[in-house]
Parts: sequence; structure tokens; C-alpha cells
Amino acid sequence: MKKLDLRAGYDVYIDNSFNVCLLLDKRKKYLYVIDEMVDALYSRYISGEKVIVGPGEKAKDMSTILRIYDACIEKELDRGDFIIAVGGGSTGDAAGFAASTFKRGIGFINIPTTLLAMIDSSIGGKTAIDYKGIKNQVGTFYDPFIVYMDTEFLKTLPTSEIKSSMGEVIKYAVLSRSLYEWLDNNLNDVLSMDYEVIKDMIEKCIKIKVDIVNQDKTDRGIRTHLNLGHTIGHALETHYDISHGTAVAAGIYYESLVSYRLGILQSKKLHCIIELIDRCGLKAQYHLDKELVSLMSHDKKNVGGKIGLILPEDIGRVRKVLMDEKDLYEILKVPAI
Ligand code: NAD
Ligand code: ZN
Repeated sequence: MKKLDLRAGYDVYIDNSFNVCLLLDKRKKYLYVIDEMVDALYSRYISGEKVIVGPGEKAKDMSTILRIYDACIEKELDRGDFIIAVGGGSTGDAAGFAASTFKRGIGFINIPTTLLAMIDSSIGGKTAIDYKGIKNQVGTFYDPFIVYMDTEFLKTLPTSEIKSSMGEVIKYAVLSRSLYEWLDNNLNDVLSMDYEVIKDMIEKCIKIKVDIVNQDKTDRGIRTHLNLGHTIGHALETHYDISHGTAVAAGIYYESLVSYRLGILQSKKLHCIIELIDRCGLKAQYHLDKELVSLMSHDKKNVGGKIGLILPEDIGRVRKVLMDEKDLYEILKVPAI
């Protein structure tokens, strides 16, 4: 087990031997909140009371939170005890939300089991559930006590989930030139599931995220850079019902294209980004119509009725730009290259 040197404000471990019990204090009480699929595959490693949720996004519902509260009351958890999430980003978001609100906050440990949750959602302290069909409508900022990542979990993750998580890795690579260069050299090993190389990649992505979050915990400044690909990506995710990471990859493509067409990003750099998306086997182009662009008008980065986009200026540099919905549509409707 390796403890990462991060200054995140909580401990992050990376391992490959299901050893989280070594980190638990026997005098405390623990309630597991576990994804249904993960429970079916790994229940032999979990001993203790559990609330089974999901699978996936289904966990992010108020009914899940109420079930967790009921189990906390039944188990008589108090503020020194812990909820342990075991699952992907959906489980972590819901369990973290329950932990942050039960008795105004009890202990929280996150065991992410998907690549996306390891590189992204388990780090940064955001929790959320969906409400009235709107994603992440209700949530809190709440740091875990420990994040324990075990790459063994990735061995049962469908290839489609691995591929989709690469959308977020590409995001980090556009934000950081050194990750871009590393990925360019190591992508084949990542895609052929070399776990040592994947561990390395997870560490690099987390470091980028922690560095940004530490400068802007509550998402009012530089943290919005982590939303690269997400303004157009969220609209694609809703409109086409595709996975988050797949939508983010396409979002990065379109936001890079907008940047190029506005004269911000050089064509050579645009092609580097397109090539990376293509090498990951992710689809970049979808049919974009007016309805899809108007979906972006709900984005939380918008200001004064304008759509907020994080646009790449270069590999390793982005800036926030505000655009009228009409102007954005005019740029996007030109056939893609
Ligand atoms: P997920 O949690 O929805 O899981 C995806 C699928 O993988 C599910 O069907 C699940 O049952 C299955 N699964 C999980 N682990 C498995 C394993 N080891 N083996 C086999 N199957 C497994 O998906 P995700 O991509 O991890 O997370 C997406 C969620 O994360 C979204 O709700 C998104 O909003 C949220 N998110 C949150 C943050 C944050 O900062 N809090 C950041 C990014 C994304
Ligand atoms: Zn994302």
C-alpha cells in the first residue's frame, strides 16, 4: 500500500491487495454504502453492515440518502463513526452527501472502484445527488477522512467504462502539458491495461486535481478549469444519453474547435487534441442542433445569460470565455473538420 504525497487535507492510498481494513480503527463503527454490482462481485471482501445502492447513477437519489440515514440510526452511529463508500462516482457522491449531512457530518471514507472515481470524483470533496431530473442539483463540499484506491477493482470494470474514464484523463492532459507528453508516450500501455502504468496515471491525474482544488476549494475561480469539456459535454450527455466520460471527450473536441475558430487555439494543437481522443477510441463528433446548444444555457458556469466555456489556448493552458447562445450555435453549426 502506498500513501500518496499530496497535501490534500486527507490521506490518499493506492494499493492492489484489498487491505483497507489495516487503516480502520477497531474502536469506531463503520457502515458500508456499496454499489449493487460491486457488492455482487466483491462482497467476500466486505465484512460489516452495508446499504446496497444503485447500480451507478440510480444511487444519487433522495430515497438512497433516507435509507442510509435509517441504517445510521439503527447502527447508532455518532460523529466519530464512519460511512464507507465502495463503488464508482455515483456511490461516492451519494454516500458522501449522506455522511456530510447526518448529524451535521460524520466520518467519511471513500473506496472508489471505477477509474473515473479514482482519477476524479473521489478527490476534491464534492458530494451530490440528482433532483427532479437535474444532475448534481443538491450537494455539499465535504472532505473524506481517507481515500483508498485499489486497482484490483479495475479488473472487473467493463472496457466501455475504462474507455469512458479516458475522457477525464484527456481533460487533465489538456490542462497539463507534462501529463499530455506522458500520455502520448504511455497511452498504448494504459489501453492494454498495464496496471503499473495505470497506477502512475491515476497518481498524476490526482496531483493535478489536488493542486487546482487547493487553490479554489469552493469552485469560484481556477477550479472551473476542471470543467473543460463539460459545458458542451453535459449537453451531449443529456441529449444523447451517453456516459459522462464519453461526453466529456466529445465536449473537449467541440470546445477546442470553438477555440480554434475564435482564433485562440492553433490548428496544430487542435489536431494534437483530436488525435488523443481518437487514440483512446472515443467518438468526438455528434449532430449538434439548436436544442442541444440551448441545453447549455443551464450550465453553472454561465454569467449574465451568456454561456461559460473553458477553452484551450494551448496544451497546458485554458481560459474561461463567455458567449451568447446564438454566436456559439453559429460557430458550432459549421461542419466539423
Ligand atoms: P458509476 O458510479 O455510475 O458506475 C458505473 C458502472 O460501473 C455502474 O454500473 C457500477 O455498477 C459499475 N461498477 C463500479 N465499479 C465496478 C467494478 N469495480 N467492477 C464492475 N463494475 C463496476 O460511474 P462513475 O463513472 O464512477 O461515476 C460517475 C458519477 O460520478 C456521476 O454521477 C458524476 O456526476 C460523478 N462525478 C462526481 C465528481 C465529484 O467531484 N464529486 C466528479 C466527476 C464525476
Ligand atoms: Zn467530469
